[in-house]
Amino acid sequence: MPIYEYRCPECSVFDLIRGMGEAPDAAPCPSCGTTSPRKMSAPHLSRAGSAQFRLIDDSKRSAHEPPVVTGLPGKGKNRPVYTANPLHQKLPRP
Ligand SMILES: [Zn+2]
Repeated sequence: MPIYEYRCPECSVFDLIRGMGEAPDAAPCPSCGTTSPRKMSAPHLSRAGSAQFRLIDDSKRSAHEPPVVTGLPGKGKNRPVYTANPLHQKLPRP
């Protein structure tokens, strides 16, 4: 069922859950009882496809579909540089 918002002139905004098309144009405020007009608001559309959902989907996918690796990353010139300290170049490599 949709959630309808009402703005009480004395208090604040409150929500009512009513059937589709059954929401009155005004409703009494649950706090003070003042007749409050219905507030027009944007519908809460699906957020699937947003960055947050993509992150969740990628995290779940990596748990059971890890990317396939065929070799060590970046041999030779393409080796990624992790540190600028020249002493670290002398450390043993895997
Ligand atoms: Zn009120």
